[in-house]
Parts: sequence; structure tokens; C-alpha cells
Amino acid sequence: MQENDSIETTLRPASLDEYIGQKDLKENLKVFINAAKQRNEALDHVLLYGPPGLGKTTLAYILANEMHGNLKTTSGPSIEKSGDLAAILSTLEPGDVLFIDEIHRLAKQVEEVLYPAMEDYCLDIIVGKDSATTHNIRLSLPPFTLVGATTRAGDLSAPLRDRFGIVNQLEYYDLDELSQIVARTSRVMNTKIEERAIKEIALRSRGTPRIANRLFRRVRDFAQVYNNGIISLEIAQDALDKLKVDHLGLDNVDHKYLRGIIERFKGGPVGLEAIASSIGEEPMTLEDVYEPYLLQIGFINRTPRGRVVTPKAYEHLKIEYQPDLF
Ligand code: ADP
Repeated sequence: MQENDSIETTLRPASLDEYIGQKDLKENLKVFINAAKQRNEALDHVLLYGPPGLGKTTLAYILANEMHGNLKTTSGPSIEKSGDLAAILSTLEPGDVLFIDEIHRLAKQVEEVLYPAMEDYCLDIIVGKDSATTHNIRLSLPPFTLVGATTRAGDLSAPLRDRFGIVNQLEYYDLDELSQIVARTSRVMNTKIEERAIKEIALRSRGTPRIANRLFRRVRDFAQVYNNGIISLEIAQDALDKLKVDHLGLDNVDHKYLRGIIERFKGGPVGLEAIASSIGEEPMTLEDVYEPYLLQIGFINRTPRGRVVTPKAYEHLKIEYQPDLF
């Protein structure tokens, strides 16, 4: 885990110009950054949402760099008490960026500390030992930018969501963008790679930079052992097949999920809980990590009665589609 973390940090682009893809979002952010700098203000608070691995944390680092501030990072579940958040807020300096990952998991009373901090750069603290001496003290905070990230924008409370001036969804990356990311990673990691191998890894990365980088590292291992470190198309294909990542980037869990619905629930509709328990996966992992991509490529539909596998997925799995007409 620690090794992965440090590699992820090395691979993170440091400026908006180096950040590949998300064109509209980048162009808008450039305008907002320039405008804030011209006015000598902190950038407005930013909410980024979308599936894991699409570059939300990376963007928070970039925003801090571009605004010449420091980045402080934390996450919703790790802030247990409002005092923990107050402690973090009180270390901020003007222009800093505070990144809260999984912001939808903030406790309600912690969230309430954030409202005045976001709106007025203020911290309301209750002091005193008992009801007779208890009173509020209002401390001012330096202008800062909160960057919140979430895989579930729908789970954010309305008052919190409304306090973000910039709200953006991150999109899956296309083949060309993923190829640029793999090419960049191979440059950073000093690895020789064939153009066709770059495309092969990009194709199987399910639109996600984190997966592209992870597959790249595993393919590089195979290349090191079998091909003097050079990643050829054959090495890439062979390694990815061994890793059980198919040519659309679907892995074991995707296959288990789709086959589970087809074989045990006649292709659906089936509720998330039922499919999750039948294949031994967490409902939340399926919903946040696996389903968004399967929806994106048209392999499942979400209906009011549950998930349904589409004919396109049957075709990919080479299973005959027999719709239940009655
Ligand atoms: P998230 O916070 O959305 O889960 P991260 O920001 O941690 O995703 O991104 C995962 C990895 O993918 C990063 O280490 C980074 O190397 C790479 N990455 C993400 N977005 C981009 C991008 N637009 N360009 C280049 N690399 C990227």
C-alpha cells in the first residue's frame, strides 16, 4: 500500500497543463484560478465527484500548486469529532487548500463546523465546562479553498453542496487520453514501450488513470522478467491476459457480477443487495467502483425494479441472450 502511495505521488502531474483530459473542467478552472489570483482572493470552494481513480486528489494538489498554497489532506471518515476539524482548520494559512476526500462521509456535527468556515472563514468554538459558563467564541480563519471529493454526490447534504461555488463531475477518459497517460507514465518510470503496447494497456484500463498506471506497473514486471524490460505488444497482451483483464478492461469481479445476474437472476431485474450477497461483494463497492463503468459501456441498465444485464453484455460474455418475454 505504501509503495503504491509513493508511486502514485511520483506519477501525479503537478500543473493543469500536465493534467491530461477533462478538457472543459480544466479550461474553466484556469479561468477561475486566474480571476481569483487577479483579485488576490482564495479560489472558491471546489467539489469534485466521480468514480475512484479519475484524478480528484491529483486535481486538489494541482489547485494548491497553481494557487501557490499548501495542500492539507484529510478524509470524511477520519474526522471523528468537530474538534478534529477545528484543529485542522486552525493550521491553515492564507491561500491554502484543504482537501477532504470522501466528504459525503463527514459526521453531521463535523459538517456544521464547516459551514461558517466555508462561508465566512470563521470557526465557532464552544468553550466552558457546564451550561452556566458555556459560550461561543468566533475565531477568524485565513481565506482558504476547500476541495471536497466524493464518489457519491447524491449523498451530500444540500446545505454542504450549496456552499461549493465550483461543482464538477469527472468523466471517464477516452482511449487517446489514456494512451497519453500510459506514455507519460512510461517516460516518468524510464521504461521502453512499443506504441501498440501503450494502446493495449489504455484499452484495458476501463477509462481510469489509476487502473492504467496499475496495469502499466504489472506489465512492466512481466517485461522485466521475460523481455529485458522492454514492453512489447505481445508482452502487454500476455501479461494482461494473465492478470485476467479482458480486452474491454473488465476483471474478475465484473465477470462475476454480470454472470451472477445472468445465471442466478435470469439477467435481472435484481436489487443491488441480492446480487452483492450472491457473489460475496460489498454493495457499496459494486455501486461505486464497478457499476458506473458497466453503465457507461452499456452493459447494464438501472431500472426502478433493479439492475438488468443488456444484450451487449451477453454478446461480450458469449452467452446466448434469451429474454424472458412473459
Ligand atoms: P481519485 O482521487 O479520483 O481517486 P487520483 O487523483 O488519486 O484519483 O488519481 C489516481 C492516479 O491517476 C494518480 O496517481 C495520477 O498519477 C493518475 N492520474 C489521475 N488523473 C490524471 C490525469 N488527468 N493525467 C495524468 N495522470 C492522472
